[in-house]
Amino acid sequence: MATSYDAVVIGAGIIGAATALSLSRGGRRVLVVDKLPASGYGSTSGSCAIVRPFYSTVEGSALAYESHFYWMEWPDFVGKGDERGIARYVNCGNLVVKCARNKYLKPILEVMREIGCPYRELDPAEVKQRLPIVTLESFDPPRRPEDAAFGTSNGEMLPGAVFFPTGGYVTDPQLAAHNLQVAAEAAGAVFRFNTAVVEIPRRAGRVDGVVLAGGEHVPAPVVVNVAGPHSFKINQMADVERGMKIKTKALRHEVAHVPSPPGFDYAVKANRFYILPHQKIKTSIESRMRDILDEREPVDVSRPR
Ligand SMILES: Cc1cc2nc3c(=O)[nH]c(=O)nc-3n(C[C@H](O)[C@H](O)[C@H](O)COP(=O)(O)OP(=O)(O)OC[C@H]3O[C@@H](n4cnc5c(N)ncnc54)[C@H](O)[C@@H]3O)c2cc1C
Repeated sequence: MATSYDAVVIGAGIIGAATALSLSRGGRRVLVVDKLPASGYGSTSGSCAIVRPFYSTVEGSALAYESHFYWMEWPDFVGKGDERGIARYVNCGNLVVKCARNKYLKPILEVMREIGCPYRELDPAEVKQRLPIVTLESFDPPRRPEDAAFGTSNGEMLPGAVFFPTGGYVTDPQLAAHNLQVAAEAAGAVFRFNTAVVEIPRRAGRVDGVVLAGGEHVPAPVVVNVAGPHSFKINQMADVERGMKIKTKALRHEVAHVPSPPGFDYAVKANRFYILPHQKIKTSIESRMRDILDEREPVDVSRPR
């Protein structure tokens, strides 16, 4: 094990493991520290693992759009060294309805045009033709299930949807983090689990590595904070939070799983639309959604230069 490092990465989630891989392949000596027992055990393991190019900022969207091309080549990107297997990216695309709350997707589509990300607008008839179980009635405002008016339409009809072909989902986000870990280790990175960072010491006005629970000091000129929802605590330890313009806090996120409508077989009918992953329909929805676009005119989904 190396005794000195160019960088200590705090957190072995999908982002920490990817950071470690890039730094290691760039020739840096990297230590990754995580208080949990394995990579991807934090919020990464709870993720729905949807990959989508549309976010609210140009920078965020450009980064997410670029990630699609890495996911497309995932086995080549991470290599085949992980004996647990390789996570799969299902490039089924994303379908998002237009509604008042998302400003009918106008701001998003402006960003998509700016970064050159392909999309296709579908009118209600096209949406219905592709996926008959979709209703374009509006159920706004959102209500909790125990609300008597839950599931009651407000009488308005939504004007359609947008299909984004460069999206989909990853079958196992925790495995994807492990794939990155194995690739990073092959490039020289060291991972230490069940090890919490409790202090970020400073020397001559700069960070000087980390102090681990138990008191061990690991010196390093660079510390990367990718500690997930609680990363603000690391910022507080490093005494850098007060000067930050953007601050974060941990939030709980509710994800609902609903059964398929009675009599509807996703495996047969939904093979051209994104449906939240379900083990039983995994194979059938793998057929790509791009052909939905090609029926009208081909859309260029190749990597931009
Ligand atoms: C319910 C849910 C659904 C989601 N769905 C999606 C989705 O569909 N698509 C999408 O793109 N994103 C989704 N996300 C968000 C996505 O999961 C996160 O953005 C991503 O996993 C963050 O990865 P990370 O590596 O930054 O953080 P994490 O995976 O949380 O990793 C941070 C790591 O830091 C470690 N750590 C923290 N503090 C310390 C410390 N002091 N010392 C040592 N280690 C420490 C933790 O143990 C943890 O392992 C979802 C999130 C949730 C919760």
